[in-house]
Amino acid sequence: MRYIEPHGHMVSRVTDDYIDMVTAGCACVCEPAFWAGYDRSSVNGFYDYFCQLTDYEPKRAARFGLPHFCWLCINPKESEDVKLAEEVVALIPKFLERPNVLGIGEIGLNKNSRNEMKVLEMHVDLAARQNQMILVHTPHLEDKLKGTRLIVDAIKSDQRIQPDRVIIDHVEEHTIQLVLDAGFWAGMTLYPESKCSPARAIDMLENYGSERLWLNSACDWGVSIPLNVPYTALEMKRRAWSAEDIDKVVYQNPLKFLSQCKKFKLPKG
Ligand SMILES: [Zn+2]
Repeated sequence: MRYIEPHGHMVSRVTDDYIDMVTAGCACVCEPAFWAGYDRSSVNGFYDYFCQLTDYEPKRAARFGLPHFCWLCINPKESEDVKLAEEVVALIPKFLERPNVLGIGEIGLNKNSRNEMKVLEMHVDLAARQNQMILVHTPHLEDKLKGTRLIVDAIKSDQRIQPDRVIIDHVEEHTIQLVLDAGFWAGMTLYPESKCSPARAIDMLENYGSERLWLNSACDWGVSIPLNVPYTALEMKRRAWSAEDIDKVVYQNPLKFLSQCKKFKLPKG
C-alpha cells in the first residue's frame, strides 16, 4: 500500500511514529501550522515554530526517507489577539520561499468570533497576494455548520482565489456537500473519539463519491492515531473496495491537489 498523510502535526509526535508511517507505506507527510497545546506568548514563538516546520522537522522526517511539507499561518485558536495575528502574518512571506512550504494553513475558525473572521480574511488576502494555496480548519464545536458557511462565504467572496486550490478540512456529514458544491476540495479527519471515524468516512465516500476528497489522521497533540489513513484503507478493502479505488482516495487524490503547488514533488520510485 502507498498513501499520503496530507495533514499531520508531526512536531507533537515521537520519532517512532515516523517509522510506523513509513513502514505502513507513507509516501510523504504535510504539516499545517497549528496550536501547540498552549498559546504562544509573542510573535517570536511563531518565528521559532516556522523554523521548526521548515528546517528541523523535514530533517527529522528525512532520516526515514519521508518527504515533509508544511503550511504556515497563525491558527484560529490563537487568533483572538488581532495585533499578534498581524505581526505573524507579516512574518510569513519570507518563509513562503522555503522549499517545503505549500501555502497558507490551517486557517479558519474555532469559535466563529469576530476577531477570528478578521484574521481569516487577513490570511485569505495574504494567499491571494502571494498566489498561495489554502488549507482550512473548520470548527469542531456545535457551530461547525455555521463556521463552515462563514468560511465558504468569506473565501468565495474573494474573486482572486480559485476554489480548486483550497481544501476545507474536517468536513462531516452535514458540511461535506456544502464544501464540494462551492468547488473546494474537502478533507475528512479520522479521529478515534471525535470528528470522523474510519467507518463514517467510508460511508461518506460511498455516498458522495471520491472526487475532490482526501483522508488525514491529524496526528496531533491530542488523542489521535497517526496510522488512521492506512487503517481506513484496510477497512475499505474489507468493504470490497478495489485496490485502485483505495489508491485514488489515499494517494492519487492528495497527490493531485498538492501537485498544484510547484514545490510539491515526490522522489521517483
Ligand atoms: Zn490540524
